[in-house]
Amino acid sequence: MSARNVLVINCGSSSLKFSLQCEAHSRALLSGLGERLGSAEASLRWWRGEAIRQQRALPGADHGALLRQLLPMVNEACGGRLHGVGHRVVHGGEQFTQSCRIDAEVITAIRATVPLAPLHNPANLLGIETALQVYPDLPHIAVFDTAFHQSLPEHAFRYALPDQLYREQGVRRYGFHGTSHRYVSRRAAQLCNLAVGDSCWLVAHLGNGSSTCAVVDGQSRDTSMGLTPLEGVVMGTRSGDVDPNLHGHLARALGWSLEDVERLLNHQSGLLGLSGLSNDMRTLEQARGEGHRAATLAIEVFCYRLAKSLAAMSCALPRLDGLVFTGGIGENSVLVRARTVAWLPLFGLAIDPQANALCVGGVTGAIHRPGTPRILVVPTNEEKQIALDTLALLD
Ligand code: ADP
Repeated sequence: MSARNVLVINCGSSSLKFSLQCEAHSRALLSGLGERLGSAEASLRWWRGEAIRQQRALPGADHGALLRQLLPMVNEACGGRLHGVGHRVVHGGEQFTQSCRIDAEVITAIRATVPLAPLHNPANLLGIETALQVYPDLPHIAVFDTAFHQSLPEHAFRYALPDQLYREQGVRRYGFHGTSHRYVSRRAAQLCNLAVGDSCWLVAHLGNGSSTCAVVDGQSRDTSMGLTPLEGVVMGTRSGDVDPNLHGHLARALGWSLEDVERLLNHQSGLLGLSGLSNDMRTLEQARGEGHRAATLAIEVFCYRLAKSLAAMSCALPRLDGLVFTGGIGENSVLVRARTVAWLPLFGLAIDPQANALCVGGVTGAIHRPGTPRILVVPTNEEKQIALDTLALLD
């Protein structure tokens, strides 16, 4: 049988990321991004393999118009042989413990989860419904960010709040980035010749959003994000953990509304808030090199709190086979990896500076000193994992 192809779709309210994955290749055959959809400035950028990069204005195009524009490009890139469509869905609540084939019942269940992810799930549903119209004859599969964390034990996923809030409102920790944590923990086991089902990892996924995860025998046992992706470590513009009384304090001291506080915590905090400069780690590293005090502090808070979160995750591990860094920062920032590990002296972790410097720009590798616990850099590939899940459900 010749290699099969899957179109992976990650739909936002005004954007749509796509990636055409072939099971025989590690790289996407075609990938790209539609932006500002539904507006006069709508545009499409795409990459064909490594080299060819193109852009086209699509004034007024909505998600459907974009997908129809893509049809011939996708057909050409895969020789007209598309076998399925994989959809990223942010929130699967407690219903979805794994990826599944999309039918009317699944769509209803995803809709029922909208109150838990009011920004993301409606956009993901829009992507599903549009793609079902454009590709009515193909199987469509939903892959949930939360599903991997449904294996958390109750003592890890419950908040210390009255039981009724969990039972009636679903207030609990769900965790996100599950597709990435699953992909890199499996890759780490493969790279070290360990069985996925008998291996224990701490994973730090560090991108614009960041989270940590304890993975035991291929299952998530704890993770830093909670009811929403705001909980946990410091992120680009999200604060991560703060004292929950902050809401009340700001309301009383400054008269701020809930919306004001939510905007602060989600969009004006994190690296951006601390540095007053940028949410982008590259910019902060450069500023730190030039002596910028607030950028230096932002990076240090980021690394210290990340180390604290990893130490907390270690409670869920019976042993440690390795610490894995991934995501744009985890895959590229030699400084963040070094500073974070320096804050974990009791774990016996030690970085080899030369190996650390080599693992950038998509390079996979081990960066620990010989004789100390493993530290790995493993580039994530959520699109590939979504394609793998899609193919597995076609079999
Ligand atoms: P997203 O969560 O949006 O997928 P990414 O995983 O692409 O984000 O990560 C984006 C982050 O990675 C940004 O903070 C960016 O500055 C950081 N990053 C990318 N390349 C480098 C680099 N060479 N050095 C330091 N940070 C980097």
